[in-house]
Amino acid sequence: MLQPNETPCRFDRAVRDATGAPLTTADRLAVLQVNIGLRCNLECAHCHVVSSPRRTEAMDRETMVHVLRVADQVHPDMVDITGGAPEMHPEFRWFVTELTDRGHTVQVRTNLTIFFVNGYADLPEFFASQGVHLVASLPCYLQENVDRQRGDGVFHQSIEALRRLNDLGYGREERLPLHLVYNPTGPHLPPAQQALEQDYRERLGEQFGIAFTGLYTITNMPIGRWRADLQREGALDDYFDVLEQAFNPATIDGLMCRHQIEVAWDGTLYDCDFHLAHRLPVEHDVRNIRDFDPERDFQRRIATRDYCFGCTAGAGSSCGGALA
Ligand code: SF4
Ligand code: SF4
Repeated sequence: MLQPNETPCRFDRAVRDATGAPLTTADRLAVLQVNIGLRCNLECAHCHVVSSPRRTEAMDRETMVHVLRVADQVHPDMVDITGGAPEMHPEFRWFVTELTDRGHTVQVRTNLTIFFVNGYADLPEFFASQGVHLVASLPCYLQENVDRQRGDGVFHQSIEALRRLNDLGYGREERLPLHLVYNPTGPHLPPAQQALEQDYRERLGEQFGIAFTGLYTITNMPIGRWRADLQREGALDDYFDVLEQAFNPATIDGLMCRHQIEVAWDGTLYDCDFHLAHRLPVEHDVRNIRDFDPERDFQRRIATRDYCFGCTAGAGSSCGGALA
């Protein structure tokens, strides 16, 4: 049986067996992902960064300026802003505007319900004015499942938020893409992305008249709040086994860590948001965005842990959905 914290890591061995080499970055930086803080208006059961309204971690202006400098230097395809609810960061709009003014494509991961918190009602208009790409959580098209995972009332607010975004052109116009995110409500892999997307289109379209660009299926990683839940239920080892047994070498090329670098709110560099949650910095070395060196920090060997099997299980999983 796979031991969650076993060293050396079994994931590393699986990758070497499949490819003959350890996991390293691909030849260019496609995504600069920035986690600007952990405060969130929700407290979801599966949250890998354990966000909540009580978290106070937030990127300072100086670190944001370093991110802007690095974005200008490396020209990623996209700057992907995440959190927490990144919109709650006091400098959020300044940061987004600086990025778009400099010609960067900006994507924001939104939980949708933030639009209903005091002070954030005009976010959809702000997003549209800046041409921000949106990735929105909606773990199911059924109210019961969404509310169980994310809290009472979340489903109805999400539907209302999606309607407002549609009215502004999101999910309908090419310039305003709106992707939805599905993640399982139990310890199993997501269903096939394409078929599920079709189900979402039918259910959300017929019932609520909602349009969207595409659906990303994302596997729950056994870290953070979800890991604690599995541990409490005695299901953690079984879930690790599910992930390991579904290891799919065809997903390795597309793993998001191979094409991105992640900056945490304190400027520390990580391979991905999961390693950030696990406090596992790039190459096990605490390096900061202020000292970013494209040669050293992008062309790197990727740190691995056994929860990485969550990204290679079945059709694979990434911030952009399935991989194979
Ligand atoms: S999963 Fe997203 S919306 Fe839910 S608590 Fe975590 S950061 Fe907030
Ligand atoms: S958890 Fe992070 S480092 Fe591991 S495979 Fe997934 S994206 Fe890559």
